[in-house]
Amino acid sequence: MEEKKQFGRRRQRRRRRSWPLLLLPVVLVLCLAAAYWVSGHTFPQEPAVEYPLQKIPVTVTGAPQDGKPAAEPESAAMPWYLTLVNRWNPLPETYEITLAEIPGGEKVDERIYEPLMEMLEAAKEDNWDQLPMVVSGYRTSEKQKSLYNDKIREYQKQGYSVEEAAEMAKEWVAAPGYSEHQLGFAVDINGATYDLYFWLQENSYKYGFIFRYPGSKTDITGTAEEVWHYRYVGKEAAAEIYEQQICLEEYLERIKE
Ligand SMILES: [Zn+2]
Repeated sequence: MEEKKQFGRRRQRRRRRSWPLLLLPVVLVLCLAAAYWVSGHTFPQEPAVEYPLQKIPVTVTGAPQDGKPAAEPESAAMPWYLTLVNRWNPLPETYEITLAEIPGGEKVDERIYEPLMEMLEAAKEDNWDQLPMVVSGYRTSEKQKSLYNDKIREYQKQGYSVEEAAEMAKEWVAAPGYSEHQLGFAVDINGATYDLYFWLQENSYKYGFIFRYPGSKTDITGTAEEVWHYRYVGKEAAAEIYEQQICLEEYLERIKE
């Protein structure tokens, strides 16, 4: 038996052409609204970020290497923020720091925490609205040692003797016991854009920080240019160093006189 199913003939519905036409202005309005939103006009003000201040007290042994004398006692008369540490001037034999953790997890001496955060906040505008990242703050002696040894190995691989490699490495990475990072007053800042470094060079002094190793001062600082390395010296010294276009070593010589 054959059952004949009767299917109703599918009626071809004619699409109504008026629909897409009606939707077009709606889509346009939505696009415009989205563009307006993206352009930033309607973004709500970001709430002020609060950085919890975590204090970590540590006592550090500067342990100068090579039997060289530690920083002379006369520097005790100098305010803490003018402590000179470079490839010829080791860290004080012992010193105490209370560390504060900054966004990203690096730590600095708590006394530079506020000016540093103020500076980074102010720099946001020239860093695609992002808080510049501190990629290196306080370093332990062990950390400095491993960075230094890595650099020496790099030069040795290029065929230099250990002695040559060590001398060359010093221009880029301070030997352990000779790094400002071990003091907790120095930071390496990573910018989302190079504009950040121009901004820092022109504005960091307002917050007490200096562009520590300009290329024009390598003979005096003993360190090759590092656009990312900023050091706290207090507002007064920073302003003078900026205005006179001198480096910390030159500034300290001047105030001695
Ligand atoms: Zn650095």
